[in-house]
Parts: sequence; C-alpha cells; structure tokens
Amino acid sequence: MIQRPRGTSDFLHMDNPHWAFVESSAAALAQLYGYSRIDTPTFESADLFVRTIGDSTDIVQKEMYTFEDKGGGLLTLRAEGTAPVCRAFLEHGLHNRSLPLRLYYLCPVFRYERPQSGRYREHHQFGVELLGAEGPEADAEVIALACDLVKKLGLEDIELFVNSIGDPSCRSEYLILLSEYYQGTINTLCNDCKDRFTRNPLRLLDCKNEHCSVIASGAPKMVDNLCGPCESHWQKLLMYLNTVNIAYDIDHRLVRGMDYYTRTVFEFKPKGSGSQGTILGGGRYDGLIEQLGGKPTPGIGFGSGLERLVLNLEKKQINTAGRAPELVVVLHHGDECVPYAMEVINHLRSKEIPSVLASSGKSIKAQMRYAASLQAKTVIILGEDEVNSRCVTVKDMLEGNQETIKFEDLNNYLNTS
Ligand SMILES: [Zn+2]
Ligand SMILES: [Zn+2]
Repeated sequence: MIQRPRGTSDFLHMDNPHWAFVESSAAALAQLYGYSRIDTPTFESADLFVRTIGDSTDIVQKEMYTFEDKGGGLLTLRAEGTAPVCRAFLEHGLHNRSLPLRLYYLCPVFRYERPQSGRYREHHQFGVELLGAEGPEADAEVIALACDLVKKLGLEDIELFVNSIGDPSCRSEYLILLSEYYQGTINTLCNDCKDRFTRNPLRLLDCKNEHCSVIASGAPKMVDNLCGPCESHWQKLLMYLNTVNIAYDIDHRLVRGMDYYTRTVFEFKPKGSGSQGTILGGGRYDGLIEQLGGKPTPGIGFGSGLERLVLNLEKKQINTAGRAPELVVVLHHGDECVPYAMEVINHLRSKEIPSVLASSGKSIKAQMRYAASLQAKTVIILGEDEVNSRCVTVKDMLEGNQETIKFEDLNNYLNTS
C-alpha cells in the first residue's frame, strides 16, 4: 500500500467542519479590511527564497524543498508566503498602482521539518500583506486584523507578543552589543547557538534550549537601542494598540525566523503553550521589495497556519458544526422512480438546496440508514404513488414525522420547516 509522505495530511472535511470555517472566516475578514486575494505559484526560483529569507537562516539551510527540473532550473516549493507576493508585486508593476495595496492569500507552504503536532512538511497558510504603507497605523491595522481573526474563530486565551528589531542602521550597532554580551558565555550554549553566534546572532535570543533561554533573558534589549525613527515608530504603534484596546506583551526575545524583518515583529500564542505554539506571526519588511530590485517600498504582513488554528479549535472543542448547509437525501423505490427522483433533485439544486440521490438497488431501509449517516435533516421518499400523482413524501429526520405534499409545494415546505 502506498501511503502519503511523512509530514503531510489528508484532510477529511466531512469529518471536520473546522477547516472550512477557518478558511471562510479568514477570507471574509480579509475582505472586510479591504484586502483582495492573490494566488502565486506552488514553486518559485530557489533564488527568491534564498535571497529574501536569508541564506544563514534555518529555513534556507535545512528546510527548503529545492529541486532541479528537467530544464535545469533550480526551483523551490513555496517556503513562505511573503516573498512570492513581493515578487508578484514587482512582476506585475503593482507599485505603479495607488498604494498602499492590500493582499491576502490561502496557500500550501512546504518545509522539511520534524513532523509533530500542528507542524507538517506541507501545511497551509492564511496571510495578509499590506504594501506601500510606512506609518505605524499600518502595523496596527494588520495586528487588529489578526486579533479579529482569533476572536472570530472563538479562540480564547490567546496572547499577543510584540517587539521591535529595529532597522539595518540601529540593528548593526545592537548586534555588536549582543556579541559583547555573549562573548563570555558562548561556550556554554547549545551547538545551534554557537553556530548562530557567528552567522545570525539575533537568533541567539529565541533559542528554545533551557540554559540558552536563561542567558538570552539577560541580553541587552533591541527596544532599548533603537534609533530615533525606529523608536518613534515603536512608541506610536504601542499607543495605537492601546487606543483600540488590543492587549499585548512586549517580548524582547521575539525575533522571527527570516532575515527580512525590520522594526515591528509579532506573534499570537495560546496561553501557556510555550515556544512551539505560535498560531500566527508576522512583521514589517521595509527592505524586501528593494532587495528584490524594486523601488524602496515598505511592507507589513502576517501568516497563520490553518492546521494550528484547526488544532486549537479542536482542543477547545469549539463547535463550528451546524454552519454547513443542511443536506436533503432523496430515496426511491426502484429504477422506475429514478427519472422522477432526478427531476426532484435537479429542482432542489436549482434552488441551491444541497441534495444527494440514494443508490438504486437498495431497500428503503438501507437508503434511510445512509441518509442518517450523512446527517440529513430531511429525506424525500419517492414510490409509485408519488410518481403517478406528482407528489413527494417528506420526512423530518429530527422530529420523525412525515407527510405527502405536491411537488410544487416542496419549496414552501423546505423554506418553512
Ligand atoms: Zn541555544
Ligand atoms: Zn533604527
């Protein structure tokens, strides 16, 4: 038997209504905020991710699905959502349109990671990107959208963490401070940290190792070392968040995993979930478009893993069932009733009523069991009498009562029952 590759999932929507609920809630919310959808290819030039995410990051070093195609091109399966959107922004000359531009996406993302609960090698992301907006009100907008998503899904006890990691001008001075701080302790840290110390010292701050965490907690804070413009951006953002009553904690160890972030970074985590529990994360990337060869264009966005959102809905046993439209199943006594049954079912579908025809060659009892297994609220039973008199027998599966009515009265019956 061939099985699905490790770290992937077959999502059986019929057994789990959460997924559709998350997807539709996210899309509706993005539209409410004025974002329009963008879909980019599943694979891109490997170069796009290497250059933007940063060749010293874990993602580029260890986690990308990169392959050579038959034409000799080096391609990578979408490793994150932001760089492809920025590439498309430039490729379609969207910078010539009125800015800012608001875009959202729902797409699969591929990372070669050790699979565990809520972490997959192929996972799905909802994300938004706000391009061409420099002011901290843009950061507040994107964070508010994320907050509303969490609320709309009914998730409780989710905490927002924010931080500023400055811009290239103040960060380079900060990194010197950070290196000085770590000078004496670097030999006591984990192997990953020893490696980070030389190639990506900012990532020393978010090491999950217990001992490294203690050392990182005492490190100098980026927010204490921001340049004037970064400091003003940061203070205004906090003020705006207070204005719209968004609660947050400042986490000076929050740095995110990509090199392109500037200034604001943020994450949402369930209370007490620790480092692996992030359900949504994002930040500002003011240098990214320029790095891809465009005119300097600020940007900010976030991505959120659908699998993790669904997992949290399941954990909290939040009931999203009953939001799916109610199904009608049409039962019939033998082949001679099938043409009439098809007429009835076509009529139901033309009225946007979800419906299925039970299989021929099965007893009414067996067809009834099938309808019950589909959790149909209504079944329609058609026999010789119904065919001859152009009637339908309708049974309410919850109440158990049934009645025979004229075909032309079916609409009224379904609308009022
Ligand atoms: Zn470490
Ligand atoms: Zn700065």
